[in-house]
Amino acid sequence: MGKTNAADDSTLLIHGGISRDRFTGAVNVPIYQTSTYAQEIPGIHQGYEYSRTGNPTREALEALIADLEHGTKGFAFASGMAAIDAVLHLFKSGDRLILSDNVYGGTFRILDKIFKQFGLTYTLVDTSDLKQIEAAIGPDVAAVYVETPTNPLLKIADLAAIAQITKRHTIRLIVDNTFYTPYLQKPLDFGGDIVIHSATKYLGGHSDLVAGLVVVKDKETAEQLAFIQNAVGAVAGPFDSFLLIRGIRTLGVRLDRHVENAEYLAEYLAQSPDVKKVYYPGLADAEGYEINKKQAKNGGAMISFELTEGHDLNAFFRSLKTITLAESLGGVESLVCHPAQMTHASIPADVRHAAGISDELIRFSVGIEGKEDLKNDLDNAFAASRS
Ligand SMILES: *Cc1c(COP(=O)(O)O)cnc(C)c1O
Repeated sequence: MGKTNAADDSTLLIHGGISRDRFTGAVNVPIYQTSTYAQEIPGIHQGYEYSRTGNPTREALEALIADLEHGTKGFAFASGMAAIDAVLHLFKSGDRLILSDNVYGGTFRILDKIFKQFGLTYTLVDTSDLKQIEAAIGPDVAAVYVETPTNPLLKIADLAAIAQITKRHTIRLIVDNTFYTPYLQKPLDFGGDIVIHSATKYLGGHSDLVAGLVVVKDKETAEQLAFIQNAVGAVAGPFDSFLLIRGIRTLGVRLDRHVENAEYLAEYLAQSPDVKKVYYPGLADAEGYEINKKQAKNGGAMISFELTEGHDLNAFFRSLKTITLAESLGGVESLVCHPAQMTHASIPADVRHAAGISDELIRFSVGIEGKEDLKNDLDNAFAASRS
């Protein structure tokens, strides 16, 4: 941890990791835009040899995310997918992973289309159901990989209970914490071994960068992952690392506002005659509400919903004025997407439907605009799409 006695995450977001430049005292770690570093005699240097292996700006970011997630070491990558790719390189041919059945589409795709070719397989289960996880475990299973909440159905997995299972079988528990960030949920505190982030989303927070982060709990995995990060090389550049540190400093105030808006709009959607079903883990009658409350601060700011019969989806999307139809999530601006045709199009329709992702489902990343403006925008679009 950096030079701070922070007990509160709001402080840690600003002062965690390496929050100042140790060479000049600058209150922001500068963008060390360099590929290499001078050595005095071969092997004698100031801790840096080559920027794929280590860079002071990236290092400050890696120390910060490790502090925030209560882990031993953090790693920064060029994208969330590069982070996931690095973690999957911890496994070998013949290993099998148990995977949430509605994970991020790209996570499914990299396993199904790339790692499967090399003999790393997967089994999809509903990870909100402990019995399904237990039943899928066999001698070849090397890890359970979950999102909680899942994308896009926002199902909740019981992290502490799953950790009991993975510990009993001495396998790893990997958690993609993109939807909540450590400000809302710290999976390592509940027995997780590895946390993954698409930092492109809330951590960056301004839809202006693509990056990924990993935090591990034990030293041995940290050494393996450092080796993989350097060997494969999909590292975050110094400028993106700087932007990400800058984004993380305001994560607390942003998320407080994101969640305030989301709670308000989830209530509104739940009562709307235009809406058939709302998925939001912060609603008291949501499936998994109690488990979520045990392990997370609140229900976050992602909402999914289905319109009632007779709505024209394209008319709905076209009528929105403030809310933008776009992939991605977690930025200050509100976004909606249509998972079946956008984020989850890489999952075959039968697999998608089996996981409960209907063709009517809309995913909503609630931004930090005025909540009344967002409500009115939805209201108008509902009216315009009604037949
Ligand atoms: C976006 C996303 C990813 C992939 O991250 P990129 O930064 O787009 O490569 C992985 N997991 C989740 C949950 C995501 O939302």
